[in-house]
Formats: sequence, structure tokens, C-alpha cells
Amino acid sequence: MSAHTLTVAGVAVDTRHWIGGERVASPQTFPDVSPIDGGTIGEISRGTAGEAAAAVAAAQAAFPAWAATSRTERARILHAIADGVEKRLEELAIVETTDNGALLRSHRRGVMPRVAHNFRFFADWLLKLEHEDFETRGHTNHVSWDPAGPCVLITPWNAPLMLATWKVAPALAAGNTVVLKPAEWSPLTASLLADIAAEAGLPAGVLNVVQGYGAEIGDALTSHPDVRRISFTGSVPTAQRIAESAAANLTPLSLELGGKSPLLVFADADLDLAVDLAVEQYDNAGQVCLAGTRLLVEETVAEEFTRRFAEKASALKQGDPRAEATDIGPTIHPRQLEKIDGFVRRAVAAGARAVIGGHRKDGQYYAPTLLTDVAQDSEIVQEEVFGPVLTLQTFTDEEEAVRLANDTRFGLAATLATGDPERAERVTARLVAGTVWVNCFFVRDLRAPFGGSRLSGVGREGGTWSFDFYCDLRNTVTAPNGWTNHG
Ligand code: NAD
Repeated sequence: MSAHTLTVAGVAVDTRHWIGGERVASPQTFPDVSPIDGGTIGEISRGTAGEAAAAVAAAQAAFPAWAATSRTERARILHAIADGVEKRLEELAIVETTDNGALLRSHRRGVMPRVAHNFRFFADWLLKLEHEDFETRGHTNHVSWDPAGPCVLITPWNAPLMLATWKVAPALAAGNTVVLKPAEWSPLTASLLADIAAEAGLPAGVLNVVQGYGAEIGDALTSHPDVRRISFTGSVPTAQRIAESAAANLTPLSLELGGKSPLLVFADADLDLAVDLAVEQYDNAGQVCLAGTRLLVEETVAEEFTRRFAEKASALKQGDPRAEATDIGPTIHPRQLEKIDGFVRRAVAAGARAVIGGHRKDGQYYAPTLLTDVAQDSEIVQEEVFGPVLTLQTFTDEEEAVRLANDTRFGLAATLATGDPERAERVTARLVAGTVWVNCFFVRDLRAPFGGSRLSGVGREGGTWSFDFYCDLRNTVTAPNGWTNHG
């Protein structure tokens, strides 16, 4: 075993970059810390501009052959990667939990199966990707999806491998090569993915993984002239910086960003269902972009809703994310914990009341919190906390509900609890949100478009929308009988 290998819960993880089919170490490293106990897991290669350039060069060199590889062969390799993920599912689950603190049972049963599904889904979608031909005075218009070139994919820490592969799979399926930069707070499973892809027969240089701190390696990736697509999931300020950096080459961007999504509870809703949906917003310690963190409840049922919610939320078990009985694990990092606590302290100082929680616990844990008496224009209602902190406001009618729901700079998602299908249709049509869930939450179909409006993002991915982004679309117009009269 190399000096660059860590053993994480019995699983060997290489701490170096993966560039052009080889492991490459940087002279400097950064510490990777487990949120479970704050202990250092190990030192990871800390890439800078040199590694970024090498990775893009490897992706550029591998591009022509991969782009020319048949769709069936590309799909076969993606399925082989999915097989590898399934074979190592337990290992991936425990390494991810150790690295980012999300529940082991979720990683086992939901997240890692979804990682494999990301590859299978885009492999299969690729094989049926076609467009109906158009006819213009006997001429045929044929639309094709051509590979675009090297893609830079930059991902956050809250669902590392799931969000990375949601980009890697369609980018590779489309015939592109990839440089993946995972978040520095959760770098490990991306390294395992490189191993799995190599074992599955993905040619050298088609997938490259570089590690490091955001801007230190990121700017060199996003400003590189050979990069033809950048797909980013993360925060708004980082997206703004990436957009500036990409502007030099007008590199097309897909941005999946933060949210401050509403969860609307109407008086006609099944209140138990509404409470369940609201409590679900604490999943992953609230570190979920889609979380409906603003509970908007019709005044006539607000008291009863709050009572039932507090009872149910107080019964959640917080603790070691590896334990089967745990409902809420730690926050990712002391800095994130500090940030969450700061938001709550400022809100309380401004007059908010904590119905439950409102404080830190031992280690990196933050108590599930519900704040009431919050003003619509206050920081706690307008800004993303990214922790287990919800606010509750009331409304008196549909008009006010829609106004409050739409009154932030975000537009990622919205959830509605109502027993009236006509109301659901009316309200949904007026909400600014990339995804609206009616009487459900977090149900995702990869065929559907995914993304956000306003500051929550630019573009949509999913199904054909992913291929639209990761490909250069070409229209070929052919004359009847091979010649044209320019008519
Ligand atoms: P972040 O913006 O701090 O970091 C995200 C990634 O960008 C990391 O890999 C980081 O190293 C990298 N980065 C930082 N600066 C960079 C730069 N100048 N150039 C290139 N890369 C750079 O976000 P985070 O704290 O890791 O993630 C939390 C955010 O992500 C929240 O706002 C959350 O809502 C959002 N998110 C959105 C979705 C979605 O699908 N819309 C999903 C998950 C998380």
C-alpha cells in the first residue's frame, strides 16, 4: 500500500489526484476531517494551477478517441461503472459517512443506489437519444448531439458522490471527457470513483479527479480555454466567481445553487402528512439545497400544526450517523456549525423565538430548530442557513401564501400540503421554483428537468436537458436528391 493511501473504516482510499490514468501527488496537502468526532482522517493532495492544467491537458488528449467511441460502447462502460459502484456499495457508504457525516443508512439504501442509477440511467438515455427530423421544402433537418469537449465538474460536500455522478455520468455518456473537483470537506469518494471507473475499463484521461481548495485550483480550471463546459453545484458567491472566470472564454455554464424554499401548509391539508413533510426538512442535518426551510402555515391550523411538529421533531434521535437508529447526524465542519449558530443568534436577537432547539450541542451537532416571530425581510427568512433550522410564518389566504413563498431571491423548490387539487394547481402555477412537490417531498425522476430559478441556478439538467447542456447540438440540412436550388 502506498504512503498516499488512507484506510478509512477498512477501505483503502488514495489521497492523490487521478490525472491521465495515473495517481499524481502534490507537494502540499490539506487535512480531511471527519465531522463525526472532529478527528483528522488524513492528508489529501492539495492541487493548484499546475495540477489543474495537467488534468485539462489529459482530458483534452483523451477527448477525440472517447468522442469517437460508439454510443453502445460508452453505454457499456457506464453500466460497468454502475456494476462497480454496486459491488463496492458498502465501502462507498461508510467512507462517505465518515467523510461528510450524513446517515450511513441513507447512504446504503438511498444515496449509493442512486449513484449507480445515475450511470445506468444516462447510459440508457444515450441509446435512445434522438430527435425527429424536420422537413423544409423537401430538405431534411437532422439534429444530432455532438460531444462538446473537456468538462469541468465542481461539486459540494453535502451529497458528494451523488451530486458528482449526476454530472459525471451524462458528461461521459455524451462523449465528453471530465475533470472532477470534489469539495475539500469531502474528497474521498471521488477518489474511489476514479478506481471504479478505471476497473470498469474507462480509458485513461477520460475521467480525471483533482483535489484541493476551491479557488486555489478552481480558478485555473474554470478559466482554461480548452474547457468546453462547466457544471457547478454549490453556493451563490462561488457561482458568481466561476461565472466571471468562465466569461473569458464564454464557457457554457450549468449552475445548481442554493435555496430558501417554502413549504406551504393549507388548512385543508392532511395535517399529519404536513407535519411529516416538515420534519423531513431536517434530513442531512438540514444541509440539503432543496430543503423547504420556510414553513408557511395557514393561520387557522398554525397552533395545532406547531404543537404536532414540535412533538414529532423533538423525538428525532441525534447522534453518530453510523448508528441505525440515528435520524440526524452532525454538521459538516466547525465553520458550518459556527455559521448556523450565528444565523440563529442574530435571529433571536432580532426577536425570533425558538419553539424547539436554537442551540449547539456537543461536538459538531446542532439541535433541530424551529423559529417563529420572524419578519419576512429578516436575514433568517431571506438567506440560506444550510443547517437544521426552519422558520414558521402564518398566512391568512392563498394570495398572501404565494406572496410570502415567492418573496426571496431564490427559486429552487417549493412544497405544498393541501387537500384541494384545484388549489394545488392554482398555487403551483404562481410559484417561482424549479421543482414543486405537492403532498410529497424529494421524489426525483432523472427524466425530469432539475434546476433553479433566480439565484438558485442557471439551466436545467436531467434526461435530454443534460444532453442538451453537455453536447454541441448540430442541425444538418440536406438537399433533396443531394442538391439544392437555394429556393
Ligand atoms: P461552495 O460554493 O463553497 O463550494 C462548492 C465547490 O466549489 C467546492 O468543491 C469548492 O471547493 C469549489 N470552489 C470554491 N471556490 C471556487 C472557485 N473560485 N472556483 C472553482 N471552484 C470553487 O459550496 P458548499 O458549501 O460546498 O455547498 C453548499 C452550497 O451548495 C449550498 O448553497 C447549497 O444550497 C448548494 N447546493 C445546491 C444544490 C443544487 O442542486 N441546487 C445541491 C447541493 C448543494
